[in-house]
Amino acid sequence: MTLPGIVICALLLALFGLAWHHWQLRRRLEAYAQQLRALSQSTQAVTIVPANVAGLESLASAIHAILTSLNQRQATVEAERDRLANIIEQLADGVLIADAEGITRFVNPAARRIFGQTEAAPGRSVPQILRHHRLIEIWKEACAEREMRVDTVEWPQRRLFLQLIVVPDRHVAGGSLLLVQDLTRVRHLETVRRDFVNNFAHELRTPLAAISALAETLQDGALEDATVARRFLEQIRQEVDILNHMTAELLALARLEAGQEPVVARRFAPRDLLQRVHERMRFHAERAGLAFHLECPATLPSLYADDNQLERVLVNLLHNAIKFTPAGGEVTLLATLAQDGVRFAVRDTGIGIPAEDLTRIFERFYRVDRARSGEGSGLGLAIARHLVEANGSKLEVESVEGRGSTFSFVIPLPQESVL
Ligand code: ADP
Repeated sequence: MTLPGIVICALLLALFGLAWHHWQLRRRLEAYAQQLRALSQSTQAVTIVPANVAGLESLASAIHAILTSLNQRQATVEAERDRLANIIEQLADGVLIADAEGITRFVNPAARRIFGQTEAAPGRSVPQILRHHRLIEIWKEACAEREMRVDTVEWPQRRLFLQLIVVPDRHVAGGSLLLVQDLTRVRHLETVRRDFVNNFAHELRTPLAAISALAETLQDGALEDATVARRFLEQIRQEVDILNHMTAELLALARLEAGQEPVVARRFAPRDLLQRVHERMRFHAERAGLAFHLECPATLPSLYADDNQLERVLVNLLHNAIKFTPAGGEVTLLATLAQDGVRFAVRDTGIGIPAEDLTRIFERFYRVDRARSGEGSGLGLAIARHLVEANGSKLEVESVEGRGSTFSFVIPLPQESVL
């Protein structure tokens, strides 16, 4: 072959080599581009397989580094999102997220508890879930003005007192975030405290006014008449007794509420306890002209509780039964075997308690009707309830106005180990 021929051949070979290399490079770059496109559409963390691209190692490793960092960031964002979702799920306050059309996209369990499991399903509109004109108004105002709104709303039909906070969504035009706090319990506690102070002042006022009036009359001359003076002094003593009794009960209640009266549990036979109580109260019942029965099978199992505290409870309940049963009626002290323990009860055929008062009679100072209750501090049942609860039970009442009442509690059977 001549020299020019050799040169041409060499040139052709070099050209062919270059074209081959170029084609290879394009093919691999396209493969990379394809992988990156797939990556941009993927929601999952993807690792790119580094192709064996001669001359592209640094590009491949740069892309690999970017992807690794992206994967890490995505994992961090997802972990943060999960944590936040968890917190919102566990929150005691209701959280609702609504879109621009007012359709809820998220409702947490607390919101479902407040507004109802079926009513507060995600996908329902905000008004369908809130179902209270004032709550809906607050939400609409916040959305229209694009400003945060906070307001409290009383919902008497559902016995709820709610605070609603509406925050317009900065990321979704027209969208909103609703935070609902159930303040019913807090408000109830406030009312109980206020009622307590009111009632206490009221209870003190009557005996104090009586003592003051009696003392004034004595000062104004009644002291000179020995018979009148003695009668007035006796009345003052009675009023002071009432104040003493009230103070003692109040202190007892405070000690119980502070957990300062420990339960001294021991083994006892229910029949022994009832006989003791029956003996103590027989005279009171007879004096009130009532038939007083004791019903207690001898076969009842022994119990393990503070029988002295239970004696106080039964005596307390019997005092009420005797007080609220007109002469000629019946009062029964009984114990029966219940499914999971022994049921103690005090039943009377007295005036009964109106249905609307049944849930309130265990509150301090609560009296159904002051006129018919006569004297009494209104603390007896509150103390009885505490003592029963301290012994692992619950004081219950059934009553029909005009027919009578039954107060009862079940002391659970002891575990084998304590007998
Ligand atoms: P009080 O010292 O006034 O008796 P309690 O706390 O013992 O206070 O009772 C609260 C109220 O519950 C009473 O004032 C009375 O209105 C009602 N009550 C309690 N026991 C009976 C009963 N056996 N029959 C009718 N009413 C009762």
